[in-house]
Amino acid sequence: MEQSGIYTNYGPINQKFEKRLIEQMFGGVGQCVTVCNATIGLMMALKYVTRHTTASRTPYIIMPSFTFAAAAHAVLWAGFTPLFCDIDPADWMASHQAEDQLLKDYEGQVAAIFPYATFGNATNIAHYTELEKKTGIPVVIDAAASLGAQDARGQGFGCGSPHAIVCSLHATKTMGIGEGGFIYANNPDMIEALRAMGNFGFGQVRHATMPGLNSKLPEIGALLALSGLEHLDAVVRKKCAIEQLYYDHLPGFEFQHQRGTRTSYQFLPVRLPQHLVPHRGAILERMKQKRIGTSTYFSPHLHEQSYFATHCRAGDLSATRALSSSIVSLPLWHEMTPDMVHYVCQQFLNACAAHDM
Ligand SMILES: *Cc1c(COP(=O)(O)O)cnc(C)c1O
Repeated sequence: MEQSGIYTNYGPINQKFEKRLIEQMFGGVGQCVTVCNATIGLMMALKYVTRHTTASRTPYIIMPSFTFAAAAHAVLWAGFTPLFCDIDPADWMASHQAEDQLLKDYEGQVAAIFPYATFGNATNIAHYTELEKKTGIPVVIDAAASLGAQDARGQGFGCGSPHAIVCSLHATKTMGIGEGGFIYANNPDMIEALRAMGNFGFGQVRHATMPGLNSKLPEIGALLALSGLEHLDAVVRKKCAIEQLYYDHLPGFEFQHQRGTRTSYQFLPVRLPQHLVPHRGAILERMKQKRIGTSTYFSPHLHEQSYFATHCRAGDLSATRALSSSIVSLPLWHEMTPDMVHYVCQQFLNACAAHDM
């Protein structure tokens, strides 16, 4: 970098990373552009796919409430209003029936459909391609946690997708580089437009031809990402083994139903049985006293958060409420030993048993 004097602006290291990413994770199919973080990537993808409409004509973008705040913020920054749909109680992704219902209830007012590949689960992309064909409403997929995950065919999640797939490289994700991300699609026109949009909308030299901002990933980030790719597969395989250990140690608990052949969990999401739901706080406090860090992704879900409650719309969210109130995120990282997993599960079972009557 110092020798070339190129620190950003899609320089040689970014180009090398994008090329290797497509080869290694997407079987050489499709194109991608790096971004400084996935939230900005989602904003841009939503802005791009809605370019033929305006919020005054079609104010709503359908998305799940069981997701991270970034997704609803991206919709609002793109100028639209999130319209929250319920989830499938098994795979925890946007329910197709709920989406269809909202498309009916808000006919003619929906600008885009915005599903989330929940925790790296494999969204049925073919379903959304059909839906887009049938309704003419474009689709963007929040795949923030999907790098390393595989679809039902065993290919990298998103491979061949005509819709924008937005992945995060945030420190908390499987291939963390601090801050970063990328947008993937098998759609060269879209990716080239997004590349220009992310460079001040310069479709021509220093000449804005479209809405723009600065979403470029610095070369130093691309260098970390290139190095991350070398270890990614080994890291994901270790994580999958740990995930399996959790299932073995926690029989009788309900887990996410996986639609693909592999996820790349950043924590292990598990549901508390109904009778323990009121005791979740106490159970997690007890784990904390045993020096085990836990979390509750995603509780509160988006429509429970004050800003989104006042700025968004929602359909029925009963499955979302049930999942959100019972969810627990247990620790999972690739260097976790079997003993650690055993200890976490033992403490979790003890903490649960304290409330079993
Ligand atoms: C992490 C995450 C994001 C945001 O990614 P950043 O790169 O941190 O901006 C968006 N959506 C979901 C579901 C996420 O988990």
